[in-house]
Amino acid sequence: MFDLKDKVILVTGASRGIGASAAKILAKCGASVVLTARSEDALTELCDEIKTDGGKAAAITCDVATYQDVEKAINFTIETFGKLDVLVNNAGVIDPITRLVDSDPDAWDQVVDINFKGVYHGIRAALPSMLSQGSGTIINISSGAATYVLEGWSHYCSTKAAVLSLTQAVHLEHQEDGIRSIGLSPGTVATHMQVAIKDSGINKVSQLDPSVHISPDWVGQAIAYLCTPDADKYCGTDFSLKTDEGRLAVGLPTVS
Ligand code: NAP
Repeated sequence: MFDLKDKVILVTGASRGIGASAAKILAKCGASVVLTARSEDALTELCDEIKTDGGKAAAITCDVATYQDVEKAINFTIETFGKLDVLVNNAGVIDPITRLVDSDPDAWDQVVDINFKGVYHGIRAALPSMLSQGSGTIINISSGAATYVLEGWSHYCSTKAAVLSLTQAVHLEHQEDGIRSIGLSPGTVATHMQVAIKDSGINKVSQLDPSVHISPDWVGQAIAYLCTPDADKYCGTDFSLKTDEGRLAVGLPTVS
């Protein structure tokens, strides 16, 4: 368990999957957590669960594709808990999975709006308050798809590659200002996203047996680790949970 007391952390895409697991774990580590996503009922339920367990949490709906929504969620965080220490840009989608020639331009565009521009929106809205306090951490949930292209995933791979560029851009421009910018490549995780991938039947990831996927709790623990100074050496890069080095750093069982 990592010590995150006094930290204020906003998690996007916290209504289920990795974001929901991360929010619970970050709260157990002592952080005050702000949960955001589009599904209000799921957020309220999770927020109540965290508070019942003795954690500090608040929730606000937010569509990361809309800059005003993201700015509102950051302002809400600062109004509720006094500051923002960590932004976890986790919200992401992979549907519809389809080859380029069959892709629908509007649906492809929507994935860009969420996976890529959503992360930019978070960074742009969070940086002013982080810079004025002289510290802050931005964690972008990346993927092996950022550097390895898979059939049917043109939208997903190119947006995750763009997110890796954003991780590096924040590091380049603001590492001297106390801003830590880190990506997290988790490997395959047992969430709704992997159900959608399996249903598609396209490419080798859809053929994986579900038993190989890691628990979203492991990703939540990795996010907690990345909030600590021990992870400083990974700033400006994608930290990988698919390596023994990454697993050991977080305190998880090794791959081999
Ligand atoms: P998931 O279970 O499908 O959850 C996705 C989350 O993103 C949900 O909470 C969803 O909430 C939220 N979301 C989607 N569109 C949104 C929008 N426009 N605005 C705000 N929130 C939005 O998927 P997951 O596996 O936990 O994925 C989380 C992140 O991990 C993604 O960035 C994904 O690319 C990455 N990742 C996953 C895997 C994997 O194997 N699962 C592997 C590598 C990377 P609402 O629908 O309520 O808005």
